[in-house]
Amino acid sequence: MLDVDDYLRLLPKTELHCHLVSTMTAGMLVAQAEKHGVPLRTTDPARLFDYRDLQDFLVAFEAAHQVLRTPEELAQVAYDGVRIAAEDGALRYREYFVNPQSFAEVGLGYRPLMEGVIEGLSRAQADFGIGFGIVVAIRKDVTPAQAVELVRLVGDTPLPEVVGIGADYLTAEGTEDPARFADAYRLAKRLGLKTTIHAGETPNASPDDVRAALDVLGVDRIDHGYRVVDDPQLLARVVDEQIPFDCTPISTTICSGWRLDPQHRIARMIEAGVNVNISTDDALFFRTDLGREYREGLVALGVDAPTARRLALNGIDAAFCSDDEKAALRARFAGELLTLDAMLA
Ligand SMILES: [Zn+2]
Repeated sequence: MLDVDDYLRLLPKTELHCHLVSTMTAGMLVAQAEKHGVPLRTTDPARLFDYRDLQDFLVAFEAAHQVLRTPEELAQVAYDGVRIAAEDGALRYREYFVNPQSFAEVGLGYRPLMEGVIEGLSRAQADFGIGFGIVVAIRKDVTPAQAVELVRLVGDTPLPEVVGIGADYLTAEGTEDPARFADAYRLAKRLGLKTTIHAGETPNASPDDVRAALDVLGVDRIDHGYRVVDDPQLLARVVDEQIPFDCTPISTTICSGWRLDPQHRIARMIEAGVNVNISTDDALFFRTDLGREYREGLVALGVDAPTARRLALNGIDAAFCSDDEKAALRARFAGELLTLDAMLA
């Protein structure tokens, strides 16, 4: 027999909202920083991941890019990250945000960057059976023209593992402003890439940021999107259209200072029937892992086991992989769930 905690730990899962550098462990981060002479705010693991707010976190997140400089280092981090997530959270498929504009600042070009990441993730797929896709992320603090330039680079460098375009960080003015990147997203769609964007997350954001992502950019998914519950009309629409939302419970306690309880915006989204799936966002920086998001995050939100099971399956439908890969994932999940469901006390 399994109790709910064991059931949620063993539940097969996807993760669609995961930043590659955040799959490093604290030990790797400190070792890599020493190797490349990158100063960290502190090497005290107890304080290394304390942030005042989202902006403060983004500074630390940016520094993590500077400790990874070669394709070999990227491959190793990517590989180890999969191994750890398979152990901690029964991960079966994951999509990664990679920010080429941050790696370019330390001299790592797009193709060697991607080849390193793909090499590590492919090796992990062969060893652990965990599939993946890569979503190239635009940093919102670049200009609209630089965003277009990045998407053009993705188009000029065909790699089947790169399945989509996203956007993270905040604009130079500290806003989300999805509409700023309309040209980049138009080009991404023309190139046949899937699209998603961080929107409706931050304290300054509003439901209009989610609306702009849907109406101006026409994205396939929304990352975070929590402000949607502040606008009943928009909420009804995203339920009706079953727009997937990639939500990350534990990160909200740090970036927004929210308490994980049944009044939390993610709990209200799930209650309203929004198509939610669950991820870590930045496991390293928020001291979380995929298992913890379900076992602690969802439980604190008041989500029961059958609902958690449904959210895990939502991740397959919302993934940017091929229909064949989705069918294989569904079959694998169904097999595992048959055993798990029977064992749940
Ligand atoms: Zn994110």
